[in-house]
Amino acid sequence: MSASDLEPTLHDRHMTVMPAWMKCYYSDPLELESGKGRHVVGGDGRTYLDFFGGLLATMVGHDIPEITEALQRQAGRILHSSTLYLIRSQVELAEKIAAKAPVDNPKVFFVNSGSEAVETAFLLTTTARRSNQVIALRGSYHGRSFGTVAATGIRGWSASSLSPLQVTYAHSGYKYRSPFGHLSDKEFTAACRDELQTMIETSTSGDIACYIAEPVQGAGGFATPPDDFFREMKTVLDAYDVPFVSDEVQSGWGRTGRSYFGIEHYGVRPQAITFAKGLANGLAIGGVVTEADLMDCVSANSISTAGGNPIAMTTASAVVDYIDSHDLQENADRVGRQLRQGLESIADRCSLIGEVRGAGLMIGVELVEPGTRTAAPAIADAVLAEARDVGLLIGKGGLAGNVLRVTPPMTVTEEEAHEALGILEEVLATVEARQSSAVRPSR
Ligand code: PMP
Repeated sequence: MSASDLEPTLHDRHMTVMPAWMKCYYSDPLELESGKGRHVVGGDGRTYLDFFGGLLATMVGHDIPEITEALQRQAGRILHSSTLYLIRSQVELAEKIAAKAPVDNPKVFFVNSGSEAVETAFLLTTTARRSNQVIALRGSYHGRSFGTVAATGIRGWSASSLSPLQVTYAHSGYKYRSPFGHLSDKEFTAACRDELQTMIETSTSGDIACYIAEPVQGAGGFATPPDDFFREMKTVLDAYDVPFVSDEVQSGWGRTGRSYFGIEHYGVRPQAITFAKGLANGLAIGGVVTEADLMDCVSANSISTAGGNPIAMTTASAVVDYIDSHDLQENADRVGRQLRQGLESIADRCSLIGEVRGAGLMIGVELVEPGTRTAAPAIADAVLAEARDVGLLIGKGGLAGNVLRVTPPMTVTEEEAHEALGILEEVLATVEARQSSAVRPSR
């Protein structure tokens, strides 16, 4: 036995000092050491096609020269000054976001994560409405802090029941497992809208701080509501004067291909939009853009020491410019359609796939026990592991952890999408064959 056999692995060391609830993918977790474009190099020396982008945060791709240069240039000037001083890059980025957001008379506040962004939206709306009542959607994910966990409609991500909010859960647009799932899109939407009204009338005291929704539910497995869904919900919300918060931590910046912010597709102008993750292509960032009255309703001081720091702001500005100058929303739409159609055609031949859904480069593949609608999380794990073995990184999500999430950086090419589809077809066939031989009775 050599000395290195006795050395603890990085995984062993991780298990010793990191929390048990912070789980890695794969039974033999992977370290990503470097990346270029849509490819990453693992600690095992292998190159992988990255179709998960570090949980959608590597939004544009790895080591994009324009973005890396902007970051390095700023790092050589000043890292931090705090919001007690003017920060030019912060004002400039806020101007860019305000110009793009479908929000009236917009103002912007920057923080360091999605959870903080949603907390800010809760601070603003609960203060403005003098109420701690929030409506969230079933299957939602809004973060890991007390307020956001309370508004998270997935038990596997709801670490605590302690909450400053009183949250009621409305029906989401996740049709595949909805009690209204057998209805047409129009009838389904009407049923959800009527339920929302009944819920407000029966389960709240009426003075609701906000309704919060992800246009495409991320951790919920890319559940994508029908086209009229949020417009119909908004008619009820407007009748009760309830502000709409669109949580775009995953769906913003053109990733859905259909619009710059996911909610625009539904023809809704929300009172607030929260964002984070991909805006600085992986650097810690978050924020909220809201109507000015809502933003300014807080009378006490409130700051985020590192929120809006020059490094994150300069990098994010370079990301926004890159998305615009390379028309990445159009790319997300075109390559997203290619991926979606490819996966739908694989689904025609594969008994493990219950549904393919999504928008742009947010594509969910819901896996089920063959011939049923029973969620199959173990099969999803097997597909993730097999895909890694042949060089493709994808993610998973869904209420039962049974939905593959295919969500490459927005610079993904048609050739890379073609390659990923080939791998997924092969991997799904392998896992399906293994599955059917496992259930076949032995003679
Ligand atoms: N909202 C949504 C829709 C998210 O997907 C996430 C993160 N997965 C968050 C909020 C919380 O973001 P963070 O992990 O940066 O706190």
